[in-house]
Amino acid sequence: MPGKSRTIRKEIKKKQRQRRRQKQAQQRDKQLEEEEAEKQKVIDPEYQKWQKQQLEWEEFERLASERQQQDEEEAWLRREALAQRQFQLDAAERRCEEDKINRLREQQAQELASIKEQQRQRREERKRMADRAAAEFESMMKTMDEYLNDTDTLKPPPLELQRLVETHPQERLCEFFTRTNCCRFGHTCSHNHRRPMLAKILLIRHFFSHPLLKLTSSDDYLELTEHDLRDSYDEFFHDAVAELEKFGKIVNFRALRNTLDYLRGHVFVEYAQERHALRAFINLQGRYYASRQLNVEFSNLKGWRGAVCGT
Ligand SMILES: [Zn+2]
Repeated sequence: MPGKSRTIRKEIKKKQRQRRRQKQAQQRDKQLEEEEAEKQKVIDPEYQKWQKQQLEWEEFERLASERQQQDEEEAWLRREALAQRQFQLDAAERRCEEDKINRLREQQAQELASIKEQQRQRREERKRMADRAAAEFESMMKTMDEYLNDTDTLKPPPLELQRLVETHPQERLCEFFTRTNCCRFGHTCSHNHRRPMLAKILLIRHFFSHPLLKLTSSDDYLELTEHDLRDSYDEFFHDAVAELEKFGKIVNFRALRNTLDYLRGHVFVEYAQERHALRAFINLQGRYYASRQLNVEFSNLKGWRGAVCGT
């Protein structure tokens, strides 16, 4: 029966609609209830208090977090500022050190330049002195040559040759050298040694030599006597005078029989004229006698007594 089944279907559909509507109504009611509960809650003073506290707490946390962040930022900025300051201090210190080093280098360079300049000036001064000495020597040789070859034999020596040579003109005279023309300090003596450029007297150092004059212990030369020394000296005297007479007239001949190293065997020869002495000087200087090189110089000995204590 189709009519019946349609009715049933209608009924079923009707039921279904009813259920749907009921469900919707239930849902609506539930929502309304919830909304109502919510409204109730909002107006509940406890809830409002709790909510207020909650909000205060959240605000406090936010502020605390903000504050912490700010503190951290400030700390970082302080560290950064300190680091910057330290960097600037280090840089300033480095610059200061570099300046110091540069100044030191500059100073050293200046000192070196000054030393080099002084050395150059000293070299130039030495060269000037050497040149002047060489020129003076040349001039002196020429003057000596002219004086030696002058036919007027009675003419006194030129003024240039009558000069005195001094080792330390500012110092006081060396007494020993002045008295004997010898000094145990030789060229190293700090006092003034004054000698003539030309004189009638010649000093020939260590000209006479004999073992007895070198005596340090008499035992070494027991067999030698004063008589041996006398014989040797006589022989030397005759030989030397014969040689020295070739240059001019000799008026005095004295030998030192002193055993001191710096006096031993020195011979003083006095010629009648400076010209003779000069001739002897030129011929004997550097020549060998008895296998020893002769060392000759002009002497301004004032008296024999002070200088010579032997024959
Ligand atoms: Zn002296």
